[in-house]
Amino acid sequence: MSQTSDSDTKPATRLVTAGRRKQWTGPVVNPPIWRGSTHLYEDSAALAQGSANREDGDFFYGRRGAPTQWALAEALTELEPGAHGTVLYPSGVAAIAGALMAVLRPGDVLLLSDSVYDPSRAMANGLLRQFGVEARYFDPIDLDGFSTQFCERTRAVLLESPGSLTLDVHDIPALTAITREQGAVSLIDNTWASALGFAALQHGCDIAIQSLTKHVGGHSDLMMGAATAGEKYYRKLRRTAQALGQVVSPDDAALAARGLRTMGVRLERETDSALEIAAWLSQREEIAHVLCPMLLGAPGHDLWCRDFTGGCGLFSFILRGRDEAARARLVDALQMFGIGYSWGGFESLALPFDPAPKRSATPWPPKYWREQDCLGIRLSIGLEDPADLIADLERGLAAMEKQ
Ligand SMILES: *Cc1c(COP(=O)(O)O)cnc(C)c1O
Repeated sequence: MSQTSDSDTKPATRLVTAGRRKQWTGPVVNPPIWRGSTHLYEDSAALAQGSANREDGDFFYGRRGAPTQWALAEALTELEPGAHGTVLYPSGVAAIAGALMAVLRPGDVLLLSDSVYDPSRAMANGLLRQFGVEARYFDPIDLDGFSTQFCERTRAVLLESPGSLTLDVHDIPALTAITREQGAVSLIDNTWASALGFAALQHGCDIAIQSLTKHVGGHSDLMMGAATAGEKYYRKLRRTAQALGQVVSPDDAALAARGLRTMGVRLERETDSALEIAAWLSQREEIAHVLCPMLLGAPGHDLWCRDFTGGCGLFSFILRGRDEAARARLVDALQMFGIGYSWGGFESLALPFDPAPKRSATPWPPKYWREQDCLGIRLSIGLEDPADLIADLERGLAAMEKQ
C-alpha cells in the first residue's frame, strides 16, 4: 500500500501519525476494531467488482483484513524508508516462514547467518529441507568466506543483525552488495533494531522482517510478525501470505498499533538503561565478555555506530569460567528479572543460553576466547529504574559465588 503521510517527517513524528487515515479512524484517534469475516456488498454488481479489485484497503473478505489491520501495516510501511508495503503474520516465526516461502523454490539454496534465531535454523533444516531447499550457514563476520558460499542455486540469504544471543553485528551493506551481485535476494530479521534503529531496505536488504511480539507490542501480551518490502517483493509476500491464509486478528492489530505509538520512547529508555547495566557488568571480575554492540569497546560497536540509529534493551554477557550450577544460582537469585523467552516488554527478563549446539559454521566459543568462558545469560532490559536492576544483578552475582 502506498504511503499517505509526509515521509519527510522525523521517525518520532511518524510513530504518532503513521497509518491514522481519517477514513479508517473516523472521528476518534485510533482506528476502531473492525471484527468481521463477511464483508457485505450493496448488490451483485458490487460483489463482482469487489472480486476483481483485490488490493489492500478494499473490503473483500475477512482474510484480507479490514481497516484495523490495514492501518497497522501502513504504519509499519511508513516507518521503513524505501518500503512499498507490509504484510502482517500471526507471529514473527510465521513472518520468517512466509517471507522465505515467497522467494524460495525446490532446488534452491538458502544461506543463513550462523547466529540466526534458532527457530529460523530449525525451519531451514526441517520444513524447508522437506520442500527441497538446501540450507547452508556462513560466519557472519567473514566477508571473504561469504562470497565463496554462493553457487548457481543460491536464491536467498537470511541475515540477522545483531545475531540472536551473541549479538554479532553484520556488515549488512557489504553482505547485501555481494548477495545482489550474485543475483540472490536478501532478507533480514530486523527484530532487534526495528526500523527505528536500522533502515534495512536502505542498507540493501530486499525484505525486512520483524517479530512485532517484541518492541512493537512492547507489553508481553500479544504475538505478531511483519515483513516489509519494496513493490516487487511486497507483491510476492502478499500473494504467498494470502495463499497460506495468513491473517491477524483486529484485536491484536489494535494492541500492536497502540504499542507502536510509544515504541520510540520505550526503546530510548531501554537503550540508556541497557548501556548503564552493560557498562557496570563489564567492570565485574565474574564476567568475561559483555556482548552489547551499543557499548564502547564491545564487539561490533564500530559497525553499530556506522549503520544503526538506535538500540534496544537486549544484550548478553558471558561468565568467566563458571559452571552451569553457578549460572543457575545467579539466575535463580534474581528478583527483578523474570526468567523466560521473548523480550522487548516493559519488564526485564533474564535467559541462560549456550550457543555451542546451535552453531555449525563457526566454533563456539570463538577461537580467540578462553574455552572455559562459554556460558551466557541474555538480558532484556525493561523500564524499571536501572539502579534497581543493577542491585538485583549484584545480588545474583553474590549468590553465584556462594556454594
Ligand atoms: C522472538 C524472535 C522471533 C520470533 O518471533 P515470534 O513473534 O516469537 O514468533 C524472530 N526473530 C527474532 C530475532 C526473535 O527474537
